[in-house]
Amino acid sequence: MKTGLLGGTFDPIHNGHTAIAENLIKQKILDRVIFVVTSTPPHKDKEITNEIHRLNMVKIASGGKFEVSDYEIKKGGKSYSFDTLTYFSQLYKDDEIYFITGADMLLSLPRWYKSDELLRNFSFIGVDRENQLSDGKMHIVDEMIQKYNASIILTDIKTPFISSTMVREKIRNGEDVSPFVDENVIKYIKDNNLYD
Ligand code: ATP
Ligand code: MG
Repeated sequence: MKTGLLGGTFDPIHNGHTAIAENLIKQKILDRVIFVVTSTPPHKDKEITNEIHRLNMVKIASGGKFEVSDYEIKKGGKSYSFDTLTYFSQLYKDDEIYFITGADMLLSLPRWYKSDELLRNFSFIGVDRENQLSDGKMHIVDEMIQKYNASIILTDIKTPFISSTMVREKIRNGEDVSPFVDENVIKYIKDNNLYD
């Protein structure tokens, strides 16, 4: 089975995130996607919403279609993708495991913790975001492939131009976010007074 891990803060989860998972399955690149919600670091430099709220919103938006993991939350502290990939590779030994990254994350991969081991040992799926990959930055991806013999699958999936930052700002300004966020997640945000 081809399993993809989509790691993120999901503060909050939006239609860009679910579009990635839906399309990877629809295009048969993956059989399943597991959303891996990051824990809230104890000494955070920016305000991040409580991890239980972020986890709940991901569960609501996935509506049973995708799996949701609290592995990093239970582990606590700062989680490195290297450790998460090692854990899931051992848990699902018979699966092919892929780490899914949007373009911004993919391009920063050479700076991640244990980046050389990460790129040598694990497989990645890159999804473009706001045309960043067609913006003359492909050489960064090519270099990773050449230097580490990295396995990076680039998809042609088109995702909406949305970020959680944009969603938080809109909510703060009292704007409608229904084009970008699942309606039940919006209800959860309102019920719990998040982002205002
Ligand atoms: P923030 O603005 O708080 O950073 P975000 O929208 O980037 O939020 P994250 O939780 O940081 O969301 O992202 C999780 C993963 O999803 C990352 O790999 C990111 O690149 C990817 N991603 C998020 N939004 C999109 C999008 N619209 N298109 C493609 N990839 C996306
Ligand atoms: Mg982000």
